[in-house]
Amino acid sequence: MIPVTRPYLPDKDKYKSYIDQIYQRNWLTNNGPLVNELELELKNREQLKHLLFVSNGTIALQLAIKALELSGEIITTPFSFIATTSSIVWEGCKPVFVDIEEQTLNIDPGKIEAAISDRTSAILATHVYGNPCDIEAIQDIADRHNLKVIYDAAHCFGVQYKGSSIFEYGDISTCSFHATKLFHTVEGGMVVTKDPALLKKMAYMRNFGFAGPEAFAELGINGKNSEFHAAMGLCVLPDIDKIIQKRIELCQYYNSKLTKAKVRRPVWHPEATYTGAYYPVVFDDPTLMHLCIKALEAAKIYPRRYFFPALSSSLPFLDRIKLKITDKICQKVLCLPLFYDISKEEIDMIVRIILRTQNN
Ligand SMILES: *Cc1c(COP(=O)(O)O)cnc(C)c1O
Repeated sequence: MIPVTRPYLPDKDKYKSYIDQIYQRNWLTNNGPLVNELELELKNREQLKHLLFVSNGTIALQLAIKALELSGEIITTPFSFIATTSSIVWEGCKPVFVDIEEQTLNIDPGKIEAAISDRTSAILATHVYGNPCDIEAIQDIADRHNLKVIYDAAHCFGVQYKGSSIFEYGDISTCSFHATKLFHTVEGGMVVTKDPALLKKMAYMRNFGFAGPEAFAELGINGKNSEFHAAMGLCVLPDIDKIIQKRIELCQYYNSKLTKAKVRRPVWHPEATYTGAYYPVVFDDPTLMHLCIKALEAAKIYPRRYFFPALSSSLPFLDRIKLKITDKICQKVLCLPLFYDISKEEIDMIVRIILRTQNN
């Protein structure tokens, strides 16, 4: 069986040594020493000033929306994971979907202004597969219309944009450290901002709003993460360059083998680095994609249709709308299996099945 992804497991003895420490201290959660150590290591690695380790990438989005006091409408992308949209609705706002660009699969900034109304408070965009949006164009629109910007950067761990971390952009950027992501803490996530006041507010919000044992500073929720999760992060983080390097090599291997396949790759931002977080391909033709999925599944290989269905056309709690590019892309985009220990022989087999299917 070859799944679309498989979590990276660090050295077990190393993890055990952290668990021993936790047992000795008997401090399991609530801003413990390992949570603090992980936050420091993350700041060092990504060269960031302000970040918070939170319970998952979805809570990170909700904290961001809440902390920025957004209301009314939020302009967003229909081509993302469900949490991008559901967080907006969960926070009592209305998502307004704007179509994506055919080449990058990110929200099309050229179509944002037409979607702005007097109720719009923000733009929440996803850097899909870790490929940066048109950050300058989006910031320019936000500045002119007095809107906040949140980036769902769940796919972006390690991505550098114009020489610095992609998490630096927008009022707040969020990330997910779920087990299936490039860097993970089993479950986890973070919020990143340049604004110390905003960080402080989210730090209160992460812990029920407590400002001391008997005082409250904010409306809060439980967005904390535990020592056990931080321990996993501290074990995976030192391996992350090795993981990224390996994934890039595997992507290049796929590229070299797929030159004759009737698929294309999303166009990457020229000023961003690539980490190999996913290996998406856009088929020339949906029928061919479905034949490939069938043939792969017959060989116990399970690619995933990230992202299908489109968020704009499938959610029972929202009006369903048609968007030309999104609806077209969703019918023919597929993520092929990619993880740290997939072998070149396994990739050979996947490619062989795709090429054989298209040539029949
Ligand atoms: C994974 C993911 C999330 C949610 O993160 P969790 O940690 O699973 O809550 C949000 N947005 C995108 C784009 C994701 O891929």
